[in-house]
Amino acid sequence: MLQLKKKYCKFCGKDAIVYIGYANLGLCREHFIRFYENRIRKMLEKHRISGSLMVCVSGGKDSMSLLTAIKRISEDTDLDVYAFHINLGIPNYSDECESIVKGYAKQLLVPTIVSNLKKDIGFSLPEIISVSRKPPCAACGIVRRWIINKTAYELGFDFVATGHNIDDASTFFLKALMTQDYYSILRGQWEFLEPKKNYRLVGRIRPQFYLSERENMLYAQLNNIPIVDKPCPYSLRATIHKYKKAWSTLLEINPVSQINLTKTLMKLRKMMTIEEPMLYQCKNCGYPTENPNGICSFCRLISRVNKTLHNNS
Ligand code: SF4
Ligand code: ZN
Ligand code: ZN
Repeated sequence: MLQLKKKYCKFCGKDAIVYIGYANLGLCREHFIRFYENRIRKMLEKHRISGSLMVCVSGGKDSMSLLTAIKRISEDTDLDVYAFHINLGIPNYSDECESIVKGYAKQLLVPTIVSNLKKDIGFSLPEIISVSRKPPCAACGIVRRWIINKTAYELGFDFVATGHNIDDASTFFLKALMTQDYYSILRGQWEFLEPKKNYRLVGRIRPQFYLSERENMLYAQLNNIPIVDKPCPYSLRATIHKYKKAWSTLLEINPVSQINLTKTLMKLRKMMTIEEPMLYQCKNCGYPTENPNGICSFCRLISRVNKTLHNNS
């Protein structure tokens, strides 16, 4: 999608360093950076994001680029930006992620909040995964979503930003379509979710929703952003990667295919009347759940981990 096809930058005529297929645009270094930051700025403006913003940063290219762009944007807006990192307790991985995120946020002069799973909830991700019946990334997602919302709510943040990209969203939809997963087609993936203060739910935005992994990587490289260069050891087990491979062929046929598939499903959702799911307050932690029995997926997962690991010890 980003191979160089045009020689000159559309805006200044200098040599282009990148060709953006979906926009039919050749860009020089400076104009690519400007183009990228403008896309993020527009997404924040579209959803009227202002006040205190907690940017979730794992240390990968997406979230590190997001933090950089948002920090720059905040310099001429009223955004008050913080970085938030979760140390998942994965050996030979998590400590390195934490140290890269902390070091870089300090360099950017962005205050950092760190949650350490082992210290904060009593279990590391590998411990949780060892007794959970769910695939590793599903269990991790439940834990991370709960911690992100709880931290943001307790610290009084107005919004949370995360680094999802168009490769994530379009692959999620591709898999959902191929597996008749209607629930995911109707409910999964979104660029913005409104806050629901009555339910202790902080507003969430994905400013890179229509930006690709490659654009995020290029932005990171052009700005010398340090990134964790090894993948999470659980990532390779995720079946979603098998579907991701299909995009290289589809994008050659149509460079706008990822964006079009995602936008089509978003439009179809708007055209349908989909009832908002009822929210309940978890009887255990007080955070929201769609479970009418009133115990959220996080509390159910942790209770299972607690019982299994403590009964075994
Ligand atoms: Fe969590 Fe899976 Fe991402 Fe690893 S790859 S951080 S387990 S969601
Ligand atoms: Zn230019
Ligand atoms: Zn709960």
